[in-house]
Amino acid sequence: MIPILDSKRQYAKIGNDVEKAVCEVLRSGSYILGPNVKALENELAKYIGCNYTVGLNSGTDALHIALRALDIGKGDEVITTAFTFVATTESIEIVGATPVFCDIDPDTFNIDANKIEALITPKTKAIMPVHLYGQPCEMDKIMDIAKRHNLYVIEDCCQAIGAEYKGQKVGTFGDIGCYSFYPTKNLGGMGDGGLITVNSENLKNRIVALRNHGGAIRYHHDEVGVNSRLDEIQAAILRVKLNYIDEWNKARREHAAIYNDLLSSCSDIKTPSELHDTYCVYHQYTVKIPNRDEIHKMLQEAGIGAMLYYPIPLHMQKVHAHLGYKMGDLPNTEKNTEMVISLPMFPELTLEEQKTVASTLISCIEKSKALA
Ligand SMILES: *Cc1c(COP(=O)(O)O)cnc(C)c1O
Repeated sequence: MIPILDSKRQYAKIGNDVEKAVCEVLRSGSYILGPNVKALENELAKYIGCNYTVGLNSGTDALHIALRALDIGKGDEVITTAFTFVATTESIEIVGATPVFCDIDPDTFNIDANKIEALITPKTKAIMPVHLYGQPCEMDKIMDIAKRHNLYVIEDCCQAIGAEYKGQKVGTFGDIGCYSFYPTKNLGGMGDGGLITVNSENLKNRIVALRNHGGAIRYHHDEVGVNSRLDEIQAAILRVKLNYIDEWNKARREHAAIYNDLLSSCSDIKTPSELHDTYCVYHQYTVKIPNRDEIHKMLQEAGIGAMLYYPIPLHMQKVHAHLGYKMGDLPNTEKNTEMVISLPMFPELTLEEQKTVASTLISCIEKSKALA
């Protein structure tokens, strides 16, 4: 059995440091918004390269608090992708705004920057690109469109901590960047957590207030906020793990290169492409194959933990049915949804395991072709 992700292997390496950090928090008596959250916010601002970061309860909260902080709500449209996790578009619905789906570039799986402009209306307030699977979007083009049309940009960086576009980390191009520390992410806590990156001091202050019941001063409430505070235990764990993030992302990139090589002999497999001058962090290693569902089943039976991210495009989900999209509206999104499969990917994955994954995938494809 080769799992898609094995968190236990990581814990075996860093467990002692994590346990020490957690015990210190337990003994300290300070459990919410204490010194570890402050320190993590500073360390991540430095690492990502922005003026401020604000620790939150989840990536989902980061996304809808970002929209709230920019006063985006009822009657406003936000252009985004349907090829992502539901939290991206859910956040737009949470604030009462309308998601407008832009098709993807089939090579990168990200929003097709060349198709954004045609979707802009007088109601458009923001573009929400998602750096899916750890691959940066075309930020030059997106920022150029945003500037010309006076739109906000909120980057969904939940799968892309450490990823770079032209030497600059994602989350620093737009007005706000949103990160998740869900345990399976490249920098994952041991519970839920999230973070916003921001350069404007005013926006930062608004976000700090929104995360804690809408007031900067205790028991003074200026607006309706939420409780979305990052806790000290998660912050302490994340601070231990932050020391390894570059090493872990580098290992993911090395694994991706090895997979590319191992799979190159099979012309039915389309391996991931990278945009020029980007640093992808391979949250997922996702290939395109024919007969995907059948091969997925064969891989599962062979003990390979492959996954489908995501099996239904968001414009076809019940939650967004009221928007009135139909099959055929986003051809690249729909076609890619049927073909993608993500293979085991985590820093501790071994070369032997990669060889097994690759040879099993190739033989499953050959078997399925022989059956056809
Ligand atoms: C994980 C994820 C989120 C949500 O993060 P949570 O911390 O689970 O709320 C949002 N967008 C994308 C693209 C994600 O992968």
